[in-house]
Amino acid sequence: MSEGLITIKAGREKPIKQQHPWIFSGAIASASNANPGDIVTVQTHDGQFLGRGYWNPRSQIQVRILTWQDEPIDEAWWRKMLQRAIDSRAPQNTSDLAAYRLINAENDFIPGLVVERYADWLVIQALTLFIDMNKQTIANLLAELLPVKGIYERSDVDVRGKEGLKSVKGKLWGEAPPKHILISESIQFNVDVYNGHKTGFYLDQAPNRQLLSQIITENFAKENICRVLNLFSYTGGFGINALAAGGVDVVNVDSSQDALALAEQNIRLNDLHDQTPGRSWQNIEVDVFDYLHKAVSQNEQFDIIVCDPPKFANNKQQVDRAARGYKDLNLNCFKLIKYGGYLMTFSCSGAISQDLFQKIVFGALADSGRQGQIIKHLGPGTDHPVALTFPEGEYLKGLLLRVY
Ligand code: SAH
Repeated sequence: MSEGLITIKAGREKPIKQQHPWIFSGAIASASNANPGDIVTVQTHDGQFLGRGYWNPRSQIQVRILTWQDEPIDEAWWRKMLQRAIDSRAPQNTSDLAAYRLINAENDFIPGLVVERYADWLVIQALTLFIDMNKQTIANLLAELLPVKGIYERSDVDVRGKEGLKSVKGKLWGEAPPKHILISESIQFNVDVYNGHKTGFYLDQAPNRQLLSQIITENFAKENICRVLNLFSYTGGFGINALAAGGVDVVNVDSSQDALALAEQNIRLNDLHDQTPGRSWQNIEVDVFDYLHKAVSQNEQFDIIVCDPPKFANNKQQVDRAARGYKDLNLNCFKLIKYGGYLMTFSCSGAISQDLFQKIVFGALADSGRQGQIIKHLGPGTDHPVALTFPEGEYLKGLLLRVY
């Protein structure tokens, strides 16, 4: 089979040589012998090999590089790359109920492919045309390399539109998953891979959820009830970890009824449902911004606030508006924290760097008139590696602050 050839404009090869995986249309001089979704060889204007990747002329990102070596993208390549990703998740693969990100797209050097493991099931997101065309082969190989009961696809994401693809969901291999998959992160959760957000669960926050429970245990005496406000709670991730620590009163706030219904089920699942003087909780279905304005006007006070909003900036153009959103949100959080309390605050916008996020939170702190200390910089767990050559991969960042 002949292979397509992409020639790069003179002077535009540097990022490719530095192993950035994306080649934008403006850097391409010519494309020959290639059909959309084909493997292509990428060369300099004078015929020097640069890499091999896949092509989609409909996308702004016309080529995504799969290898910088002159090697074929064949079954042996796929086996090597998938096995490498599986092996590197050994620390997370500790039980039959384990849940973690198995393949982190560009950051595992397989652009466009996200795979998450939920106990006996894998959930795949195919974000690009090439991955979409090859997803069945990928699923078959994964099932061979990592024994599972079934593989389900959740490619219902807007970014596929940029590749000319529609949203799809459905079984790719083996058995269909149950309505809820039981997973364990020390706390147990039911995950809805059919209708939940992303592939069903925010696996990236796993270490921060455990950190929350540690902060409560280490800093708050059980007899003084610690008030925890969990903003954007989804299915209860942070809130249930707080409840399990004990000596807490937890308020979960989210605008999604379905998410809060599953949060309640998850509280019950961990036997934390009964309200006792040392362990109480409520789920409030409301817009977080409205909740905060009311709580500030009523002079509410919390020992710990977790603030994990959805992505505010989808691209560089939205950064200014997003920054104002983060500032407003964090300012209100500072107003609600008790003297000596903690704020765990996040941004999952890839377009906002850790540095910029810290500046925004600093601006909010200054406006609040409070004092703050950084206790820890936060990010995702080690199952979400970031390729050093791909800064765009560093999307989740956060700060643990103590506030006076
Ligand atoms: N912290 C969660 C993940 C949060 S995802 C975890 O660890 O699992 C973001 C959540 O914010 C979603 O559940 C979504 O329903 C909710 N959300 C988005 N916009 C909101 C708003 N304006 N008010 C309240 N909730 C909102």
